[in-house]
Amino acid sequence: MQGQMMNRPLLISGLMEFAERIYPNNEIVTRRVEGDIHRYNYADAAKRCRKLANALARLGVSSGDRIGTLAWNTHRHYELYMGVSGMGAIVHTVNPRLFPEQILYIINHAEDRVLFVDLTFIALLEPMAEQLTSLEGIVVMTDRAHMPDSSIKGLICYEELLDAESDQYEWPVFSEETAASLCYTSGTTGNPKGVLYSHRSTVLHAQASCQAGALNISLDTTVLPVVPMFHVCAWGSPYAATLTGAKMVFPGPHMDGASLHELIDAEQVTLALGVPTIWMGLLAYMDEIGKTLESVESVVVGGAAAPMSLIQQFEEKHGIFLIHAWGMTETSPLGTVNSNSRVMKSMPLAERYQLQAKQGRPIYGVSIKIVDDEGIELARDGVAFGRLLITGPWIADSYFREDHSENFIDGWFDTGDVATISPDGYMQIVDRRKDVIKSGGEWISSIELENVALGHPGVAETCVIGVAHAKWDERPILLVVKKPGETVSEGDMIDYLTGKVAKWWLPDAVVFVDELPHTATGKLLKMTLRDQYQSYLLGR
Ligand code: ADP
Repeated sequence: MQGQMMNRPLLISGLMEFAERIYPNNEIVTRRVEGDIHRYNYADAAKRCRKLANALARLGVSSGDRIGTLAWNTHRHYELYMGVSGMGAIVHTVNPRLFPEQILYIINHAEDRVLFVDLTFIALLEPMAEQLTSLEGIVVMTDRAHMPDSSIKGLICYEELLDAESDQYEWPVFSEETAASLCYTSGTTGNPKGVLYSHRSTVLHAQASCQAGALNISLDTTVLPVVPMFHVCAWGSPYAATLTGAKMVFPGPHMDGASLHELIDAEQVTLALGVPTIWMGLLAYMDEIGKTLESVESVVVGGAAAPMSLIQQFEEKHGIFLIHAWGMTETSPLGTVNSNSRVMKSMPLAERYQLQAKQGRPIYGVSIKIVDDEGIELARDGVAFGRLLITGPWIADSYFREDHSENFIDGWFDTGDVATISPDGYMQIVDRRKDVIKSGGEWISSIELENVALGHPGVAETCVIGVAHAKWDERPILLVVKKPGETVSEGDMIDYLTGKVAKWWLPDAVVFVDELPHTATGKLLKMTLRDQYQSYLLGR
């Protein structure tokens, strides 16, 4: 027997309509690309989203068309999130930090019809504009006064485009399984792969991420997404904020410590989201000026493992709880979250930090398991480690226009990560499968070694890779970027690690470098480093 409930589709336009009706005066604040602060509210945003939908219709955009963005976290990018998806088209957020060839590949592969671009990226676009064959128009996200001189002909001004339209528009109603947005992975091997989110997956993910046991977003939260809107939709935070009416603060392109601190303080941010490197920059700046982050209650850290030293510094210097989260482009991205709890609050700090360093428990909606190479499920005992698989309504079941069926097994997605799961449900990432170091048949976690080494006060960044070894097949070497003005030797590093990790985990060499290479999403480019240092230990 069927239930007798209304089957109203979960649509992104519904989020916007809700915020406009219930929380019209709640604010959205942006440090614009142009440099100044822009301030408006959900009612203003909703009006402009309707104007945008009218403008897109006038440009000939219809359901299913891909609309590209090359843009920072701003109110205009937010309008595109809501307006493009709301009218039934697909907002395709292009990561400007990718190599130009990858940007070209992605826009052509997605066949974007219109591209919305921030002033910052015009120079990036100019050399490739002729080769972007699917584009029928390029809109610069600024006003007339700031329109650039460019070799690209026929650039459209965003503010003029909106000014010409009515703010009356009826959002269409369609199946909730319609595609809403498209995001490509950074593609460390091969071409980037497109992940196509639906309205349903986006709304369900947003609802789940607001829960107290997840990111705890409510009407009283002031959210600062530092994680870019071109990186898994800023972890879905703009949608989550909209459905709760939370105040939103967008940092634009200004993500250095001083700019973030100023914005956090001025807008009384309570929840900020970003990758570890962003927070290391902010904390170093706060140390320098000798101040604390007063308004912030929690920071969400994901995209890479949160080092213990980061967890500790946030707690002890700023009284901020670090919510460690794990996910990936294919998982929308929230898979597991390590939220605060009564049990955690009652733990001795050192013990709590150990627990916080884990990537957390699955949020309701997703399930995870670990399996061996034959696909046999492994014990949830916190010791056995294996391939991490995930399933749920906001997990990809295939890639956009690409067949990678090897990643999708019996309704589960193989994440490419290796993890443990403890009896109480906490998942801990051991490593990415391709980064794990296989020393004489045993495994060494590069992530864990990096994080312990990062605790050394003279060290700014660390990277551990496995390189060829005559006897053990592979052994770890540690690459270190020192903090400016610090003197640290190989012996110092080994002394520091001794006793903190198993003896056979100690790196065979410590190499000091000026900088480390990163992917477009800020992760260490270990593949390049492995190639470079492959023979480092041979013949030693
Ligand atoms: P890309 O795959 O394009 O590099 P993603 O953001 O999708 O970018 O990366 C997802 C990967 O990042 C995960 O598979 C995992 O290896 C890593 N990752 C994400 N969050 C964490 C975390 N909290 N701890 C450790 N690794 C993480």
